[in-house]
Amino acid sequence: GRLAGLSALVTGGGSGLGRAVVDRYLAEGARVTVLERSEEKLHDVVAAHGDRVRGVHGDVTSGRDNETAVQAAVSAFGGLDTFVGNAGLWDFNRPLLDLPMAELESGFRELFDVNVKGYVVGARAAAGALADRGGSMIFTLSNAALYPGGGGVLYTASKHAGVGVVSQLAYELAPRVRVNAVAPGGMATDLRGPAALGLGGRAISDVLPAAEQLRRYSALDMSATAEDYVDPYVLLAARSESRTVTGTVFDASHVGTPRRPGADR
Ligand code: NAD
Repeated sequence: GRLAGLSALVTGGGSGLGRAVVDRYLAEGARVTVLERSEEKLHDVVAAHGDRVRGVHGDVTSGRDNETAVQAAVSAFGGLDTFVGNAGLWDFNRPLLDLPMAELESGFRELFDVNVKGYVVGARAAAGALADRGGSMIFTLSNAALYPGGGGVLYTASKHAGVGVVSQLAYELAPRVRVNAVAPGGMATDLRGPAALGLGGRAISDVLPAAEQLRRYSALDMSATAEDYVDPYVLLAARSESRTVTGTVFDASHVGTPRRPGADR
Protein backbone atom coordinates (compact mmCIF):
# COMPACT_ATOMS: atom_id res chain seq x y z
CA GLY A 1 0.00 0.00 0.00
CA ARG A 2 0.96 3.63 -0.50
CA LEU A 3 0.94 4.21 3.28
CA ALA A 4 2.66 1.01 4.41
CA GLY A 5 4.35 1.43 7.79
CA LEU A 6 2.84 4.84 8.52
CA SER A 7 1.03 5.79 11.73
CA ALA A 8 -1.82 8.29 11.44
CA LEU A 9 -4.14 10.01 13.94
CA VAL A 10 -7.57 11.05 12.65
CA THR A 11 -9.86 13.27 14.73
CA GLY A 12 -13.56 12.66 14.23
CA GLY A 13 -12.66 9.36 12.60
CA GLY A 14 -15.88 7.70 13.73
CA SER A 15 -18.13 8.79 10.88
CA GLY A 16 -18.45 10.55 7.56
CA LEU A 17 -15.27 11.81 5.95
CA GLY A 18 -13.06 10.94 8.93
CA ARG A 19 -14.25 7.33 8.86
CA ALA A 20 -13.67 7.17 5.10
CA VAL A 21 -10.10 8.41 5.65
CA VAL A 22 -9.55 5.81 8.38
CA ASP A 23 -10.85 2.97 6.19
CA ARG A 24 -8.76 4.08 3.19
CA TYR A 25 -5.59 4.66 5.22
CA LEU A 26 -5.90 1.12 6.62
CA ALA A 27 -6.47 -0.27 3.13
CA GLU A 28 -3.25 1.50 2.07
CA GLY A 29 -1.30 -0.21 4.86
CA ALA A 30 -1.26 2.44 7.61
CA ARG A 31 -2.04 2.03 11.31
CA VAL A 32 -4.59 4.54 12.60
CA THR A 33 -5.53 6.10 15.94
CA VAL A 34 -8.95 7.76 16.18
CA LEU A 35 -9.88 10.60 18.56
CA GLU A 36 -13.67 10.72 18.69
CA ARG A 37 -16.33 12.02 21.08
CA SER A 38 -18.98 9.44 20.17
CA GLU A 39 -18.35 6.20 22.06
CA GLU A 40 -20.71 4.35 19.75
CA LYS A 41 -18.91 5.41 16.56
CA LEU A 42 -15.55 4.70 18.19
CA HIS A 43 -16.70 1.22 19.10
CA ASP A 44 -17.83 0.60 15.51
CA VAL A 45 -14.55 1.62 13.89
CA VAL A 46 -12.47 -0.44 16.33
CA ALA A 47 -14.79 -3.43 15.92
CA ALA A 48 -14.45 -3.19 12.14
CA HIS A 49 -10.65 -3.09 12.08
CA GLY A 50 -9.30 -4.73 15.24
CA ASP A 51 -5.79 -4.02 16.43
CA ARG A 52 -4.77 -2.00 13.37
CA VAL A 53 -6.82 0.80 14.98
CA ARG A 54 -6.61 2.44 18.40
CA GLY A 55 -9.62 4.35 19.66
CA VAL A 56 -9.36 7.27 22.06
CA HIS A 57 -12.57 8.66 23.49
CA GLY A 58 -12.27 12.41 23.92
CA ASP A 59 -13.01 15.92 22.76
CA VAL A 60 -10.88 17.75 20.20
CA THR A 61 -11.38 21.03 22.04
CA SER A 62 -9.30 19.61 24.91
CA GLY A 63 -5.55 19.93 24.56
CA ARG A 64 -5.13 17.10 27.03
CA ASP A 65 -7.36 14.74 25.03
CA ASN A 66 -5.30 15.48 21.92
CA GLU A 67 -2.11 14.74 23.88
CA THR A 68 -3.60 11.47 25.10
CA ALA A 69 -4.42 10.50 21.50
CA VAL A 70 -0.88 11.32 20.29
CA GLN A 71 0.55 9.26 23.16
CA ALA A 72 -1.74 6.36 22.24
CA ALA A 73 -0.54 6.48 18.62
CA VAL A 74 3.12 6.62 19.62
CA SER A 75 2.90 3.79 22.13
CA ALA A 76 0.73 1.53 19.94
CA PHE A 77 2.44 2.11 16.60
CA GLY A 78 5.90 3.43 17.44
CA GLY A 79 5.44 7.04 16.36
CA LEU A 80 3.23 9.44 14.43
CA ASP A 81 3.60 10.29 10.74
CA THR A 82 0.31 12.00 9.92
CA PHE A 83 -2.11 14.10 11.98
CA VAL A 84 -5.50 14.53 10.31
CA GLY A 85 -7.48 17.30 12.03
CA ASN A 86 -11.00 16.66 10.82
CA ALA A 87 -13.72 16.79 13.52
CA GLY A 88 -16.02 19.72 12.88
CA LEU A 89 -19.43 21.31 13.33
CA TRP A 90 -21.62 23.07 10.74
CA ASP A 91 -24.01 25.97 11.28
CA PHE A 92 -26.75 24.85 8.90
CA ASN A 93 -26.39 28.05 6.86
CA ARG A 94 -27.90 30.12 9.68
CA PRO A 95 -27.97 33.73 8.41
CA LEU A 96 -26.52 36.43 10.65
CA LEU A 97 -29.82 38.26 10.95
CA ASP A 98 -31.62 35.09 12.08
CA LEU A 99 -29.29 34.74 15.05
CA PRO A 100 -30.33 36.54 18.24
CA MET A 101 -27.26 38.17 19.82
CA ALA A 102 -27.00 35.74 22.75
CA GLU A 103 -27.17 32.71 20.43
CA LEU A 104 -24.68 34.30 18.07
CA GLU A 105 -22.20 34.64 20.93
CA SER A 106 -22.62 31.15 22.36
CA GLY A 107 -22.85 29.51 18.92
CA PHE A 108 -19.69 31.29 17.83
CA ARG A 109 -17.82 30.04 20.87
CA GLU A 110 -18.93 26.44 20.47
CA LEU A 111 -18.35 26.23 16.71
CA PHE A 112 -14.98 28.00 16.78
CA ASP A 113 -13.89 25.85 19.73
CA VAL A 114 -14.29 22.70 17.63
CA ASN A 115 -13.40 23.95 14.12
CA VAL A 116 -10.50 26.25 15.00
CA LYS A 117 -9.28 25.66 18.56
CA GLY A 118 -9.53 21.90 17.98
CA TYR A 119 -7.13 22.20 15.01
CA VAL A 120 -4.69 24.48 16.85
CA VAL A 121 -4.45 22.42 20.04
CA GLY A 122 -4.33 19.23 17.98
CA ALA A 123 -1.39 20.66 16.05
CA ARG A 124 0.31 21.60 19.31
CA ALA A 125 -0.12 18.08 20.67
CA ALA A 126 1.08 16.34 17.49
CA ALA A 127 3.93 18.60 16.33
CA GLY A 128 6.73 17.01 18.38
CA ALA A 129 5.96 13.43 17.38
CA LEU A 130 5.50 14.46 13.73
CA ALA A 131 8.84 16.29 13.72
CA ASP A 132 10.56 13.14 15.01
CA ARG A 133 9.39 11.29 11.88
CA GLY A 134 9.42 14.10 9.32
CA GLY A 135 5.64 13.76 9.12
CA SER A 136 2.80 16.05 8.14
CA MET A 137 -0.51 17.56 9.20
CA ILE A 138 -3.64 17.50 7.04
CA PHE A 139 -6.68 19.55 8.05
CA THR A 140 -10.19 19.12 6.69
CA LEU A 141 -11.46 22.48 5.50
CA SER A 142 -14.37 22.95 3.08
CA ASN A 143 -15.62 24.77 0.01
CA ALA A 144 -16.57 27.26 2.76
CA ALA A 145 -12.84 27.92 3.33
CA LEU A 146 -12.68 29.40 -0.17
CA TYR A 147 -16.17 30.52 -1.24
CA PRO A 148 -19.28 32.02 0.39
CA GLY A 149 -22.54 30.13 0.69
CA GLY A 150 -21.26 26.80 2.03
CA GLY A 151 -22.47 27.74 5.49
CA GLY A 152 -23.46 30.76 7.49
CA VAL A 153 -20.98 33.32 8.77
CA LEU A 154 -19.91 31.18 11.73
CA TYR A 155 -18.96 28.16 9.63
CA THR A 156 -17.50 30.15 6.72
CA ALA A 157 -15.37 32.27 9.06
CA SER A 158 -14.18 29.17 10.95
CA LYS A 159 -13.10 27.39 7.76
CA HIS A 160 -11.36 30.54 6.48
CA ALA A 161 -9.56 30.59 9.84
CA GLY A 162 -8.39 27.08 9.01
CA VAL A 163 -6.56 28.50 5.97
CA GLY A 164 -4.65 30.73 8.38
CA VAL A 165 -3.82 27.75 10.59
CA VAL A 166 -2.34 25.95 7.57
CA SER A 167 -0.42 28.94 6.28
CA GLN A 168 1.08 29.95 9.61
CA LEU A 169 1.94 26.44 10.80
CA ALA A 170 3.48 25.46 7.46
CA TYR A 171 5.78 28.44 7.97
CA GLU A 172 6.52 27.80 11.65
CA LEU A 173 6.95 24.02 11.50
CA ALA A 174 9.12 23.88 8.36
CA PRO A 175 11.30 22.13 7.46
CA ARG A 176 10.47 19.09 9.59
CA VAL A 177 6.66 19.06 9.32
CA ARG A 178 4.56 19.79 6.24
CA VAL A 179 1.11 21.31 6.84
CA ASN A 180 -1.71 21.16 4.27
CA ALA A 181 -5.48 20.99 4.01
CA VAL A 182 -8.14 19.35 1.89
CA ALA A 183 -11.29 21.31 1.07
CA PRO A 184 -14.10 18.87 0.28
CA GLY A 185 -17.53 19.89 -0.97
CA GLY A 186 -20.96 18.84 0.24
CA MET A 187 -21.74 15.25 1.19
CA ALA A 188 -24.47 13.55 3.18
CA THR A 189 -22.93 12.73 6.57
CA ASP A 190 -23.81 12.93 10.26
CA LEU A 191 -22.24 16.44 10.45
CA ARG A 192 -23.91 18.20 13.40
CA GLY A 193 -24.34 21.78 14.56
CA PRO A 194 -23.67 23.61 17.81
CA ALA A 195 -25.91 22.61 20.71
CA ALA A 196 -25.95 26.32 21.60
CA LEU A 197 -28.00 26.89 18.42
CA GLY A 198 -30.25 23.90 19.11
CA LEU A 199 -28.48 22.03 16.30
CA GLY A 200 -26.63 19.37 18.31
CA GLY A 201 -29.03 16.63 17.23
CA ARG A 202 -29.49 17.60 13.60
CA ALA A 203 -27.35 16.17 10.79
CA ILE A 204 -26.45 17.75 7.44
CA SER A 205 -27.87 14.61 5.81
CA ASP A 206 -31.31 15.66 7.12
CA VAL A 207 -31.22 18.94 5.19
CA LEU A 208 -29.12 18.34 2.09
CA PRO A 209 -31.02 17.94 -1.15
CA ALA A 210 -31.35 14.39 -2.41
CA ALA A 211 -28.37 13.00 -4.31
CA GLU A 212 -29.91 13.86 -7.67
CA GLN A 213 -30.20 17.51 -6.61
CA LEU A 214 -26.80 17.65 -4.92
CA ARG A 215 -25.10 17.24 -8.30
CA ARG A 216 -26.53 20.60 -9.38
CA TYR A 217 -23.95 22.22 -7.09
CA SER A 218 -21.11 20.28 -8.68
CA ALA A 219 -19.10 21.55 -11.66
CA LEU A 220 -18.42 17.87 -12.33
CA ASP A 221 -22.07 16.83 -12.18
CA MET A 222 -21.29 14.55 -9.20
CA SER A 223 -23.21 13.66 -6.09
CA ALA A 224 -20.08 13.01 -4.10
CA THR A 225 -19.81 10.76 -1.07
CA ALA A 226 -17.18 10.87 1.67
CA GLU A 227 -15.21 8.16 -0.13
CA ASP A 228 -14.93 10.39 -3.21
CA TYR A 229 -12.89 12.93 -1.21
CA VAL A 230 -10.21 10.72 0.36
CA ASP A 231 -7.65 10.55 -2.47
CA PRO A 232 -5.92 13.85 -1.60
CA TYR A 233 -5.56 12.64 2.01
CA VAL A 234 -3.56 9.68 0.71
CA LEU A 235 -1.46 11.85 -1.61
CA LEU A 236 -0.59 14.28 1.21
CA ALA A 237 0.20 11.51 3.71
CA ALA A 238 2.26 9.23 1.47
CA ARG A 239 5.98 9.39 2.15
CA SER A 240 7.01 10.46 -1.33
CA GLU A 241 3.98 11.68 -3.29
CA SER A 242 3.97 15.30 -2.12
CA ARG A 243 7.39 15.99 -0.64
CA THR A 244 7.55 19.59 -1.89
CA VAL A 245 3.99 20.46 -0.86
CA THR A 246 3.33 22.53 2.25
CA GLY A 247 1.03 25.42 3.12
CA THR A 248 -1.56 24.46 0.49
CA VAL A 249 -5.30 23.99 0.50
CA PHE A 250 -6.20 21.21 -1.94
CA ASP A 251 -9.54 22.31 -3.39
CA ALA A 252 -11.49 19.09 -3.89
CA SER A 253 -14.85 20.85 -3.59
CA HIS A 254 -15.92 20.75 -7.27
CA VAL A 255 -18.06 23.76 -6.54
CA GLY A 256 -19.17 25.22 -9.81
CA THR A 257 -21.80 27.50 -11.18
CA PRO A 258 -25.14 25.87 -10.37
CA ARG A 259 -25.61 25.32 -14.10
CA ARG A 260 -22.71 24.63 -16.39
CA PRO A 261 -22.97 26.35 -19.76
CA GLY A 262 -24.81 24.04 -22.08
CA ALA A 263 -25.91 21.67 -19.35
CA ASP A 264 -29.59 20.94 -19.28
CA ARG A 265 -30.30 20.51 -15.60
P1 NAD B 1 -19.47 13.75 10.73
O1 NAD B 1 -20.25 14.37 11.84
O2 NAD B 1 -20.01 12.55 10.06
O3 NAD B 1 -18.01 13.44 11.26
C1 NAD B 1 -17.39 14.24 12.24
C2 NAD B 1 -16.99 13.38 13.42
O4 NAD B 1 -16.38 14.23 14.40
C3 NAD B 1 -18.17 12.70 14.11
O5 NAD B 1 -17.88 11.33 14.27
C4 NAD B 1 -18.28 13.42 15.45
O6 NAD B 1 -18.73 12.56 16.50
C5 NAD B 1 -16.86 13.88 15.68
N1 NAD B 1 -16.78 15.06 16.54
C6 NAD B 1 -17.53 16.19 16.46
N2 NAD B 1 -17.18 17.05 17.41
C7 NAD B 1 -16.17 16.46 18.12
C8 NAD B 1 -15.40 16.86 19.23
N3 NAD B 1 -15.59 18.04 19.83
N4 NAD B 1 -14.44 16.02 19.68
C9 NAD B 1 -14.24 14.80 19.09
N5 NAD B 1 -14.96 14.38 18.03
C10 NAD B 1 -15.91 15.20 17.56
O7 NAD B 1 -19.24 14.94 9.67
P2 NAD B 1 -18.32 15.06 8.34
O8 NAD B 1 -19.19 15.69 7.31
O9 NAD B 1 -17.62 13.82 8.07
O10 NAD B 1 -17.30 16.19 8.83
C11 NAD B 1 -15.89 16.03 8.82
C12 NAD B 1 -15.25 17.33 8.36
O11 NAD B 1 -15.64 17.60 7.01
C13 NAD B 1 -15.64 18.58 9.16
O12 NAD B 1 -14.48 19.35 9.41
C14 NAD B 1 -16.58 19.31 8.21
O13 NAD B 1 -16.59 20.70 8.45
C15 NAD B 1 -15.97 18.96 6.88
N6 NAD B 1 -16.84 19.14 5.71
C16 NAD B 1 -18.04 18.48 5.63
C17 NAD B 1 -18.87 18.71 4.52
C18 NAD B 1 -20.23 18.03 4.38
O14 NAD B 1 -21.01 18.43 3.50
N7 NAD B 1 -20.54 17.01 5.18
C19 NAD B 1 -18.45 19.58 3.50
C20 NAD B 1 -17.21 20.21 3.60
C21 NAD B 1 -16.42 19.99 4.73
